[in-house]
Amino acid sequence: MFRQLEDAGLTDIHIGLDAATGMRAIVAIHSTARGPAIGGCRFLHYATEEAALTDVIRLARGMSYKAALADLPHGGGKAVLMRPDRPFDRKALMQAFGRFVDTLGGRYITAVDSGSEVSDMDVIAQETRWVSCTSSSGDPSPYTAIGVLSGIQAFVKAGLGRPTLSGLRVALQGLGHVGMNLAQKLHEAGAHLVVSDLEQSRLDRAVQQFGARVVAPEAIYAVDCDLFCPCGLGAILNENTIAQLRCRIVAGSANNQLAREEDGERLRERGIFYAPDYIINSGGLIQVAMQHAGAPEQAIIDKIVGVGATLERLLSDAIRLNLPIEKLADRLAEQRLLQAGRASQHHAA
Ligand code: NAD
Repeated sequence: MFRQLEDAGLTDIHIGLDAATGMRAIVAIHSTARGPAIGGCRFLHYATEEAALTDVIRLARGMSYKAALADLPHGGGKAVLMRPDRPFDRKALMQAFGRFVDTLGGRYITAVDSGSEVSDMDVIAQETRWVSCTSSSGDPSPYTAIGVLSGIQAFVKAGLGRPTLSGLRVALQGLGHVGMNLAQKLHEAGAHLVVSDLEQSRLDRAVQQFGARVVAPEAIYAVDCDLFCPCGLGAILNENTIAQLRCRIVAGSANNQLAREEDGERLRERGIFYAPDYIINSGGLIQVAMQHAGAPEQAIIDKIVGVGATLERLLSDAIRLNLPIEKLADRLAEQRLLQAGRASQHHAA
């Protein structure tokens, strides 16, 4: 286990057990150098304890990088709450998890993730204040869309030399919470939309309200356009789909867009500018974190719009140095974490 922690650069792991409710949880903390670790709680069925441990360790570092690049005063962490095999009392389980999070005294702030819901966060909030994404914080998706739009504007400017989105040809995959919101913003900015989704009602709305053209889900990759905007599933950029792309930019909200690390290089070889997902989709995290800290609405929006400036700088550097942008992004995140670590050691000395 210690080897796994070391390889992933984590500082600590906390294991919580409450036999009465069946609560079995693991919290992994990657870094608190910039502030309390923040990250979602997965509530999934795991075949083994090792699988749960591997998942939580794997995901914690990504949250540190995401928070550092969003310039938030937070480190990264993640929790897994193992979904019991037998019938269970969800409320009692969440309360027990809340008490467990509370014992960490604010080193870790929990949030919604796969399998957990806003209503679970409300229950957890009965036991601890170290929880975000409660029903009082609202839906983060519109904030995520603001950040994605800002990132697209930056890429269109730095990558294509175009000052506005007017006339931009966009192929948008997934008209869900983020995608529909973004489609509206792109339409208002004068972009032309080609869309795909699995739900007919969402496609109808995009046609009626934004004058979008619809293509079948598997046809979206080959649409001749300026921007491919993935807002549906993860892992959609692979050897097969990248070969089909006829765009200059890939920038969208979906998590973990690259199926494999080398797919970033594949995009670069094809001359396609890729906006790293964990930067461009950080608007939701920024909203959740800043709202938890009590920041005013305008300050939250200003910070989210700043996602564009970060991406513009990274893309300019990537073009100048001829390096993959996601490598530069990782490097910048590591620098920020290192600086914060040195500063906190200096402070403690
Ligand atoms: P959502 O579930 O509301 O929307 C996803 C949409 O994609 C749905 O309309 C679904 O029908 C569609 N879809 C699924 N498979 C498809 C396919 N093969 N082809 C075309 N469309 C397909 O999810 P969301 O909250 O809008 O999030 C979208 C993506 O952005 C996810 O990857 C999510 O992890 C990521 N993300 C969301 C947020 C947020 O604030 N909601 C924040 C960060 C990242």
